[in-house]
Amino acid sequence: MNQNFQQFMATELNRLHDEGLYNNIRVLESPQGAWVQINGKKLLNFCSNNYLGLANHPEVVKAAKIALDQYGIGPGAVRSIAGTMALHQKLETKLAEFKGAEAVLTFQSGFNANLAVIPAMVGKGDTIFTDELNHASIIDGCRLSRAKVKIFKHCDMTSLQEKLAEDSEGRKLIITDSVFSMDGDIAPLPQIVALAQKYDALVAVDDAHGEGVLGSHGKGVVDHFHLHGKVDAEVGTFSKAIGTVGGCVAGSKTLVEYLKQKARPFLFSSAVTPPDVAATMQAIAVLERDDTLVRKLWDNGNYFKAQMQKAGFDTGRSQTPITPVMIGDAKMATQMSERLLEAGIFAKPIVFPTVAKGKARIRVMISATHSKDDLNLALDKFTEIGKELGLI
Ligand SMILES: *Cc1c(COP(=O)(O)O)cnc(C)c1O
Repeated sequence: MNQNFQQFMATELNRLHDEGLYNNIRVLESPQGAWVQINGKKLLNFCSNNYLGLANHPEVVKAAKIALDQYGIGPGAVRSIAGTMALHQKLETKLAEFKGAEAVLTFQSGFNANLAVIPAMVGKGDTIFTDELNHASIIDGCRLSRAKVKIFKHCDMTSLQEKLAEDSEGRKLIITDSVFSMDGDIAPLPQIVALAQKYDALVAVDDAHGEGVLGSHGKGVVDHFHLHGKVDAEVGTFSKAIGTVGGCVAGSKTLVEYLKQKARPFLFSSAVTPPDVAATMQAIAVLERDDTLVRKLWDNGNYFKAQMQKAGFDTGRSQTPITPVMIGDAKMATQMSERLLEAGIFAKPIVFPTVAKGKARIRVMISATHSKDDLNLALDKFTEIGKELGLI
């Protein structure tokens, strides 16, 4: 082992500890749910993106078990070489139908979907227009594409228009998160689409936090704004509201054909396993069947946010069930989270580099599985500890 490098890493880790930026990863001893177990203690969970409780839904689990017996576990190789399973194609057809898109291609994760689609849409000599708060996987996808990257101010259409009006060669691509995961606000997609039409740009949206949350039956941001057929690439993940794991891109049949020939994470990395695929398919079936879970999620989110504001907390600019509790100082956010943990509430501090310096917060992820009693318990604890720490 190289001692200089060991020393370099140890110094950096110490700095993270000193500045309150060290991420203390908790170990769960239970499945994901409204309550989880950590260090033998039951905690009320506000950290997961399992918005609808589908990660543990009996029908979803059962579908995975059946697929395991029917198809086994290993894919053998990448889909383009070992052949693709009928199951994966079935999921893609079902997803296209659900989203109202011509076609869908699935990937191993949402992260990989961005690494696949961005460099396939634009390359050297082209220009990307990207929101300053876009997800890390979009940032990395932009870098990999080698296109020129122009960053516009968060959800600021004047800023986007200014950048679009500047001289640029090649193809243009505007890309945005649909729901911004650290703030819970929604991108103004209709205005983005209008600007794209005016300046002849492509549009890609990453709907990771919109699927299962926005639109009729959680069909996502395109459905929410009635923009079917107006977005060139709709990126998604199954790891949030869908409750499983995997990613996808929805768009035209030609886009999907093209990605199958060009997208490197599709060509050089194996697909998710049959149980994952079957579970995702079942989760979509549950969503299609009725929208009770989606409505419960919104009721819970609206209730919690309103009560937190009443208690004097700043919940930022959220328009969705994601509830950021703005603190500012990273050390204070970490301290608050630790005090909450002692009180039985699992809510993580979000600090730099996930959010800007000085914008630390506790992010409360509300889900449809929380009961009113759960939410009231959390409200009591937040208020008690917030007062103790002088935050309200
Ligand atoms: C979570 C997230 C991803 C990554 O999804 P995974 O399936 O977990 O890889 C991508 N984009 C956005 C906006 C996300 O919030």
